[in-house]
Formats: sequence, C-alpha cells, structure tokens
Amino acid sequence: MRKITHWINGAPTPSDTDRWGDVFNPATGVVQAQVPFAPSAEIELAVSSARTAAASWGLSSMSTRTEVLFSFRHLVNAHRDELAEIITAEHGKVHSDALGEISRGLENIEFACGLGSHLRGGFSSQVSSGVDVNSLRQAVGVVAGITPFNFPVMVPLWMTANALACGNAMILKPSEKDPSPAMRLAELLKESGLPDGVFTVLQGDGDVVGALLEHPGIDAVSFVGSTPIAKSIYSRGTAAGKRVQALGGAKNHMVVLPDADLGVAADSAVSAAYGSAGERCMAVSVVVAVGEIADPLIAAIAERMNKLVIGPGTDPASEMGPLITRQHRDKVASYVAGAADEGATVVVDGRTMQLEGDAADGFFVGASLIDNVRPGMAVYDDEIFGPVLSVVRAATYTEAIELVNANQYGNGVAIFTRDGGAARQFTAEVTCGMVGVNVPIPVPVATYSFGGWKDSLFGDAHMYGPAGIDFYTRTKVVTTRWPDPASSSVDLGFPKTR
Ligand code: NAD
Repeated sequence: MRKITHWINGAPTPSDTDRWGDVFNPATGVVQAQVPFAPSAEIELAVSSARTAAASWGLSSMSTRTEVLFSFRHLVNAHRDELAEIITAEHGKVHSDALGEISRGLENIEFACGLGSHLRGGFSSQVSSGVDVNSLRQAVGVVAGITPFNFPVMVPLWMTANALACGNAMILKPSEKDPSPAMRLAELLKESGLPDGVFTVLQGDGDVVGALLEHPGIDAVSFVGSTPIAKSIYSRGTAAGKRVQALGGAKNHMVVLPDADLGVAADSAVSAAYGSAGERCMAVSVVVAVGEIADPLIAAIAERMNKLVIGPGTDPASEMGPLITRQHRDKVASYVAGAADEGATVVVDGRTMQLEGDAADGFFVGASLIDNVRPGMAVYDDEIFGPVLSVVRAATYTEAIELVNANQYGNGVAIFTRDGGAARQFTAEVTCGMVGVNVPIPVPVATYSFGGWKDSLFGDAHMYGPAGIDFYTRTKVVTTRWPDPASSSVDLGFPKTR
C-alpha cells in the first residue's frame, strides 16, 4: 500500500506513526493509499523547521519573494492537468471542475505577486515639529493552514500565496481525505526556489490540528471547514493567544423573483447545486421561488437534471462525480428519505441511480430535487453538502428575504431578477457575506476577499485578497524625530575618513 509522507524542511518525510488513515478512490471505493497522522515528534520537527525558516524568509527582499511567486505561478499553470488528475484521483470531482479550482487558485498567486504594492506602508511628514510617522507591515511568523477536502488545491492557495508573500512560513495540514495535491504543491514551491522549511505539509487528523492550536511555535491559524469545527478552532486558537480566521459551512439560497428569466435561473440552479456533486461551500442548496413561478421553474430544473451525466471524474463525459466517502454518500441519501417523511415532495430521487462496473462500488448518488421544503425540516436546516436541491415557495419578496436572513448561515446568496431596483434592495438587506445578482456562485475574484457572515465565519478576518494581507501581517508604526541640523550641535554631515 502506498504510504503518503509529510513535507518537512524541503523534502518528503516518511512518518513513524502508528496512526494511519485510508485514502480512497471515491469513484471505485478502493483504498489507494494511507496517510499518516503525525505523532508529536513529527509535529515538533515541522514547527521547529518552519520557525527557523520563517526568521530568514521574513527578512528576504521583496524581489526575492516576488520571483519565487512568479515562478510558482508559472509552474502551477504548466502542471495544471497533472494537478487536476491528482485532485480527481482522491477527491473524485470531474477533470474540468478540478481545472476550475486550479484556475481560481492561480488567481491568488497572481494577486500575491503584487506584494510590492500590497505591503506598502504609510508616511506622514512633520506630524509635530521635526517629527515624522511611518507605518510598516511585518510577517506574523509561522502560520498553520487547516483545509477541507473539497478544494484540495484552491483553498491551500487561498492561504499559502499571501502568507508566503508577506514573509511567513506556512504549515499546511490538508484534509486527510485527499492529502496528495498539497504534496505536489510543495514540490512545485521547492522548484520555484522557495527556501526549505518555508512551506511544510503536515499530514494528520483533528488531533494533529489540536496540537498545532496549542503549540507556542504557531502564531496564526487559517481554517476552512465545517461550522462546528470552525467554531471550536476559533475559540481554542484565540484562547491560546493566536490570531485565528475560521471559515465554516453554508446553506446558500438562490432567490428567484417572478420576473426572472426562468431558463437562465434553471441553468444556474442545476450547475450551482450539482456541480462538484454539491460539495462546494458556495453551492446553491435552496431555491426560493417567489410568487407563482415554482411549478415552471421546478419543471425546467428537473428537465435539465435528466440530462446530467454522472460517472467517474476521469471519464471526460462525466459532469458529476462521486461523493468523498461512503459514509457521506449514505448521509446525503438519508436526507432525501427524511425529507419525504417530513412532508416535503421528492421530485427527483437521486438514490435510484446505479452505476455499473468498477463504479458500482464508488461513492455515487444521483442528483435530487425536493419541493415544498420549509424551515424546521432537516433537509432545510442542515448543511447537506451533496447533490440535493431544496425548493422553498415564498409568496412575496419580503417572505423570501426574511427566510434567508433567519438562516444560521450567511456565506453566499444569489438573486435572479430583471429588476435592478429589487436587486439593489436585496444586496443592501441580505445578511450574507457574498452576494450574486444573476450569478449563482459569487466567489469573489482574488483582488477582493472571501468570507461569509453569521455561522459561516468566526472572527472578523476574511480570506485572501486585501483581508489576507492584513491577516498575514502585523503593522508597526514608527514615530521619528531627527534634530534639525540648523539648530543642533550634532554633526549630521557625511562621515569623513580624513
Ligand atoms: P471538516 O470540518 O470535517 O474538516 C476540515 C479540516 O479540519 C480538515 O483538515 C480536518 O482534518 C480538520 N478536522 C476535522 N476534525 C477536526 C477536529 N475535531 N478538530 C480539529 N480539526 C479537525 O470539513 P470537510 O468535511 O473537510 O469540508 C467540508 C466543509 O468545509 C463543509 O462544511 C463546507 O461548507 C466547508 N467549507 C467552507 C468553505 C468556506 O470558505 N466557508 C470552503 C470550503 C469548505
């Protein structure tokens, strides 16, 4: 069985642990590798090598860091197909979708390449007689990045690109479900000229994360994952005196007003609900049909669902791959069964889908569509994180916005309408961090920052973009007084040798 390693001090580092996790091929259900859960000696080694490296990387010139990031951008782009294959092998998503996440990750490297502008400080001359003030940004030190399974390249790049640009060392603890893409990123960073120890991959589970949260050698923690874990990471990390940003789960609504183009809305709902098998934190999981449009909209969505091609991510014909684990697949399926029991109407039941051959044992479930869903039903209240789309019927716009704003999550939301005034009112009133107007998955470009409200984010630091630069730097303000040469007896002339 293939044993996955850590990446410590610029090299693959085999583990001596007696705790290992299975890494599956979700398309076949077969265990393809084992991932180590780092014991304390390996955690110590990772942190100490990162600390040593952080000291010199933090002092490296901006041009050195920019050069590494430019080269890294070039290499990730040049290896995008290979990286996508590594993602598909362990995550299961289809190749085109894996390429999509790499593109969004590349954006973050491109943003970080502008570090010369991002790290500029301020200067005020003569704030008092002979006194000037300037501010500067310095690296935080060693940052731990803890990432979810669903974007094994993009989310690590959300963190890593800016953290390194700002002069920090990064210890990435990728999801134990798909740990290999992070290892390939480590190799490409080394090839880009990144000094050893500046980027570490430490493999492990929740216990390893717990050790990093307590470790005095870690200065800041960037976390992306489910809400209960995000909440606990935030409180444990801040209690240990660390800077923490913790992004959690979601329940993203797509509000469709009566004047919307129903064909466009149906296309968007299908791609946003079932793309990546619904395993996206910005996936649309609830359509809110306002007024009398629910029946035609549901018919249009169901018609498109019939054409969805479900199969292994390695098959170029597949549009939707398997879920990440058998347990997760079964849990997703149980929500469809539960919805019917709770009085909702199952319009399309994905549980009936069955693939053949090697894929018969894969973690597949078909796409489901459920009508007449209401708050209080588990299918509405819980983040399902699978290909299940609920439809809630709302009589008016007011009912729709009240529903969205009462939800515990506030990650993404979208409104579909032809009415600019209604869209403008919605963007002002809605309590979510990322809003799309006729855009179903409004993930901000890398020049902005990503983050939800309410239980979708703990702390106040959004991820990547300008907020990422703020998170990965500490500012210092220097107040300076120099004696005026005219009134001073101090010789400020150029030092003379004779
Ligand atoms: P998860 O919370 O199970 O795991 C995330 C990370 O936390 C992994 O690295 C895991 O090893 C670690 N972890 C697991 N249990 C832990 C524990 N008890 N203590 C400390 N660390 C622990 O999430 P997942 O299933 O990998 O990913 C899916 C979730 O991530 C969904 O809820 C999704 O909405 C969310 N997500 C959010 C965003 C966002 O930007 N808000 C982006 C992607 C995914």
